[in-house]
Amino acid sequence: MSTKLSAVKGMNDLLPEQAEVWEQVEAKVGEVFRQYGYRPIRTPIVESTSVFVRAIGEVTDIVEKEMYSFNDALNGEALTLRPENTAAVVRAAIEHNLLYDGPRRLWYFGPMFRHERPQKGRYRQFHQFGVEALGFDQPEADAEQIFMVARLWKALGLRDGFVPKLQLNSLGMPQDRALHREALVHYFQSHQSRLDEDSQRRLGSNPLRILDSKNPEMAELIANAPQLPEFLGDQAREFQQRLLNLLNEQGIAFELNPRLVRGLDYYNLTVFEWVTDRLGAQGTVCGGGRYDSLVERMGGKPAAATGFAIGAERLILLVQEAQGLGSPSAPDAYLIHFGKGARESALKLAEQLRDQGLKVVLDPGQTSAKSQMKKADASGADLALLIGEDESLAGEVTVKPLRGQGQQATMPLSQLLATMDRRKQDNA
Ligand code: ATP
Ligand code: MG
Repeated sequence: MSTKLSAVKGMNDLLPEQAEVWEQVEAKVGEVFRQYGYRPIRTPIVESTSVFVRAIGEVTDIVEKEMYSFNDALNGEALTLRPENTAAVVRAAIEHNLLYDGPRRLWYFGPMFRHERPQKGRYRQFHQFGVEALGFDQPEADAEQIFMVARLWKALGLRDGFVPKLQLNSLGMPQDRALHREALVHYFQSHQSRLDEDSQRRLGSNPLRILDSKNPEMAELIANAPQLPEFLGDQAREFQQRLLNLLNEQGIAFELNPRLVRGLDYYNLTVFEWVTDRLGAQGTVCGGGRYDSLVERMGGKPAAATGFAIGAERLILLVQEAQGLGSPSAPDAYLIHFGKGARESALKLAEQLRDQGLKVVLDPGQTSAKSQMKKADASGADLALLIGEDESLAGEVTVKPLRGQGQQATMPLSQLLATMDRRKQDNA
């Protein structure tokens, strides 16, 4: 026997039961995003490495250590499996001139790849639902996206303690950040001996990133570091105040978190995260913010923008903890067949029922009628339909209700089709 093959570490199979939950969540998310006029966009999973390096920034966790990068064996091109999708959506929007007649609301769903240590809520292939509002420079766009996420929690049946909590901060304008940066460098330089290796390096290149460190030994030093909000200028303060007013008007609860900086370079002004305490250490379900300089940095005409991404695995873990979703719909009928000629009759009947819009599962037919009946029960179907040798010859079917009252009966196929059609209309 050959050795067993298995999936790559940190990359998960979704078996049917799990994949059905995903389908339900995907449907709900799409529904809510469409309610706000967001339209779908699908970009490739592989991009030129420079797309991500330019957007995310050299000195970030993602670019420094998490990207799956490789050279194309044929032409040596430097390529990367996308670690996030804002960069690629902006690349596509510029390449196809999507902003030619004004702002655009876009959304995506798909796999992302980061070389991280796998654990609950953190994987090497994971999925994000994301939205990007390109060309929107007012806080109404940030507010609208936050309303949309709040509406999504409701649509997914998250209640009470399961609703993630909104944390907000402002990263200010470039000049505010320059002042903050100076203060940070000064502060960390005076405590240089307490910096870990990563932070030593970042002190020269990107001191803001030190605040994002997850090293517990750095926590106290970081807690006492100068905070960005102290350095905000009038423009940033006014922008944030307008956003907070809009959130208050809609009754959206939030907490200002002056230490929230986010792990990518492209953010300014608004940044936010939705965090839950129900998932252990990986509690951030959604992260986003404003990235007004990215479109220009990626080679487009300047266009302000704001967006967020939801981690699908974490969201689905949360939805399952909260038991927010019902079970996916069971088949209307389960078709059992045994004996000579029955297989063909069953195949044909199943197609006729599907013509009526019904969901019909045909048993593989390799086992006894009794064990097929067990599978019919387990399928959750309303009805079992049986075709044996006798039924097949007579052009009949035996109908056995599996839920509620009702007697087993044998009838001509035409009568079954008429009955099912009527049933469907009654239920409609
Ligand atoms: P974290 O601090 O948890 O590493 P991040 O700031 O790197 O998150 P973002 O780049 O903001 O994450 O991505 C948005 C969301 O995508 C996160 O809030 C999270 O829900 C999800 N996410 C990010 N990385 C992973 C991963 N490796 N596995 C599963 N979900 C992830
Ligand atoms: Mg990360």
